[in-house]
Amino acid sequence: MSAVVLDGKKLSGVVRDEVKARVSEFREMYGRVPGLDVILVGDDAGSVVYTRNKEKASIEVGMRGRLHRMPASTTTAAVAEFVASLNRDPEVDGILVQLPLPRGIDAATVLDLIDPTKDVDGLHPSNAGLLLLGRGMPLVACTPTGCMRLLELAGSKLEGAHAVVVGRSAMVGKPMAQLLLAANATVTMAHSRTNDLRALCKTADILVAAVGRPELVRGDWIKPGATVIDVGINRIASEGGRDRLVGDVAFQEALDVAGAITPVPGGVGPMTIAMLLANTVRAAELREQRGSLHHFGV
Ligand code: NDP
Repeated sequence: MSAVVLDGKKLSGVVRDEVKARVSEFREMYGRVPGLDVILVGDDAGSVVYTRNKEKASIEVGMRGRLHRMPASTTTAAVAEFVASLNRDPEVDGILVQLPLPRGIDAATVLDLIDPTKDVDGLHPSNAGLLLLGRGMPLVACTPTGCMRLLELAGSKLEGAHAVVVGRSAMVGKPMAQLLLAANATVTMAHSRTNDLRALCKTADILVAAVGRPELVRGDWIKPGATVIDVGINRIASEGGRDRLVGDVAFQEALDVAGAITPVPGGVGPMTIAMLLANTVRAAELREQRGSLHHFGV
């Protein structure tokens, strides 16, 4: 049996079209377009590409996208001051600080300063806390929400299913586990100290790998028919000297066992950027709605 390959590229096109429609409705209602501001500190080659893509993608759906670059030699205070200026700017709906920040910049100080209503990466303690408590309408990290859309595409039954999330980062593993829990899956989180990871993975109906170790999850770690979401993006040297991207799952081996699987590239990656756009338009809508309630004295 060969697994269904979940086409994240195609699904991200659907999400972008949804966002485009919401942007044009937003423009008609409020006479402006949602704005995403991305801050890049330093010149890490990967981050330069990611941030340019984010700026370009936001413009493509009709939003205002702006990339702000600061030198690696800048200070935590300078980045914090810049974030504060974006917090105050009414034209700014989404603020994203590209991670990782250069050594010497205190990421927590910077991220905690972002206005939670503009925190489109969902990393502010207030958004992460609301997600944990299952309350309010938090902005949720983009990669896990993208994974949830891919699970929906797979038609995977989440209620009662055993979901194993490998990786416990604040950006991916933890919010992913919370979203699966909210969807009534029984969730186990695994990490670098987990005993017998292979045996644990083998019990998963839904397996999410967010580790950053090339092809860690082998075919014989997967329960037959399971849905596998591979978040990992690992660059490895291949014959001929050109790098190639592989996930955290040995894709070819997994194809023979899983029921459905995301490829790398073309799976979770394109969904992350699409969900960033969705988060930005949602942040803009929520801010305008709160603004009008405020206007009516509520
Ligand atoms: P982090 O490095 O922040 O977290 C990695 C997690 O994996 C940690 O919890 C770590 O455990 C765990 N881990 C490391 N080694 C092992 C191991 N041998 N066995 C089990 N668990 C292990 O990474 P991120 O969460 O930020 O990213 C994970 C991967 O996803 C990376 O490849 C990254 O590039 C990719 N990524 C892809 C995105 C996309 O859009 N497709 C977006 C974001 C990330 P411990 O906590 O114990 O150290």
